[in-house]
Amino acid sequence: MSEKKAEKQTLERDLDVQREMMEGEYQEIVIVGGGIAGLATSIALRRMGLQPLVLEGSKELRVTGAAISLAPNAWRALETLGVAHKLTPFYAPLNTMVFTDLSSGKTISTNSLLNISDDLSLRSVHRKALLEALAEELPPTAIRFGSKLSSIKNLPDSSLLALHLEDGTVIKTKVLIGCDGVRSVVAQWLGLLQPVHSGRSAVRAIAVFPNGHGFTKNEVYQVLGEGTRSGFIPLNDKEVYWFMTYKSHLDQDADLWKHPELIRDTVLQRIEKAFPAKFVEVVRKSDLETTSLAPLIFRYPWDLFFGHVSKGNVTVAGDAMHPMTPDLGQGGCSALEDAVVLARNLGETLQKDGRTEFDEKSAEEALKKYAKERRMRTAGLITGSLLSGWLQGETGWLVKMIRNTILYRYLFSKLPQVVDYDCGKLPVIGSHS
Ligand SMILES: Cc1cc2nc3c(=O)[nH]c(=O)nc-3n(C[C@H](O)[C@H](O)[C@H](O)COP(=O)(O)OP(=O)(O)OC[C@H]3O[C@@H](n4cnc5c(N)ncnc54)[C@H](O)[C@@H]3O)c2cc1C
Repeated sequence: MSEKKAEKQTLERDLDVQREMMEGEYQEIVIVGGGIAGLATSIALRRMGLQPLVLEGSKELRVTGAAISLAPNAWRALETLGVAHKLTPFYAPLNTMVFTDLSSGKTISTNSLLNISDDLSLRSVHRKALLEALAEELPPTAIRFGSKLSSIKNLPDSSLLALHLEDGTVIKTKVLIGCDGVRSVVAQWLGLLQPVHSGRSAVRAIAVFPNGHGFTKNEVYQVLGEGTRSGFIPLNDKEVYWFMTYKSHLDQDADLWKHPELIRDTVLQRIEKAFPAKFVEVVRKSDLETTSLAPLIFRYPWDLFFGHVSKGNVTVAGDAMHPMTPDLGQGGCSALEDAVVLARNLGETLQKDGRTEFDEKSAEEALKKYAKERRMRTAGLITGSLLSGWLQGETGWLVKMIRNTILYRYLFSKLPQVVDYDCGKLPVIGSHS
């Protein structure tokens, strides 16, 4: 390249940067992603008087996944966010888990699993209801739909970042929180490793019984088979959430992903002869609108220690930080914990400095504290989920023995201690509480 051409390119780049500095819209705090983590983080920050903007790539709330089980830690966080009371009256507490071993037909039940108190009991809720309950807490201008982040740049001689969206918009921000799920652009910018496939996939759907299903409403029913873990949970008198996890290669199900009918029929073919009739009936009644298939992805737990969970004024929360397999049902619950812990740390820093706005150092310090607080907890949840998935999905006699003795008799009795996690309350800043 000639010297003149190189000079021209450098000049053009400098002009682009200057244009970004001058023209881009400014937002003090930007949250990328309007899923559970993003909406909850926004509520938590707004409850302290801050005004984050949520950028959501989809045109509307993304409610894929049918339903979600929420454990005491999630309910505590939702109470802090002022949202729990909008959901608990409509969903029955779950207090019994019944496991059936497919090959032997034997049943093991675990009672009073997570019954810490009625309000904090394990409950399965519609994802749509949870996301809507969260979104309702935010003013309409707080979420910008159809705004997909494509890249992040540091602005020179400034602590600001320039966020480039797919539609060409540029937004400058002081604090960036990536809640953009397993394929997080923000996590990549932080240098975290790409999450990996666990070797399993999951199908989920809601089955509808217009005349009532007749199942026990407080019970989680699970079937453990040849490399599969399946189950169902009544959501109310007429709807039952069901799931099946199974071993798979990442591209094995690619043909099915966008075809709910094919997903349901493939599961039916697989289970029709081998599974208990009640489970087959539930799958048959699937509402195709809610039927989906997803590969199960996780982050290596050590990445949370050796990688950057926060760098300067940038951090990640929810699946962007700690994608995990769903075997402890903790991905969404811990995303809610993240939201409160992150906001608490930001709020405490402002409170300590007697400020209502961040300077470069105060936000960085708060995000570092947040990352420190979350590392061990979420690495433990990723590891526990993998272990639980492995023990429940394998069929060898040794694994089965470990599963039936250690997992169900011992580890499950310890589960309440893991999920009865209190992520604390939000500080009061100025006149906000
Ligand atoms: C089969 C299965 C069962 C599960 N069951 C449970 C359970 O019972 N209990 C539980 O607690 N958890 C469960 N989970 C985990 C739970 O679903 C996730 O942990 C949770 O949804 C994570 O929320 P999030 O907000 O971090 O990410 P997401 O829900 O993925 O939200 C990310 C959001 O960011 C948006 N986005 C992505 N990229 C961009 C971008 N570049 N720009 C702008 N927006 C962007 C997306 O559109 C999306 O709305 C399960 C997961 C699976 C796969």
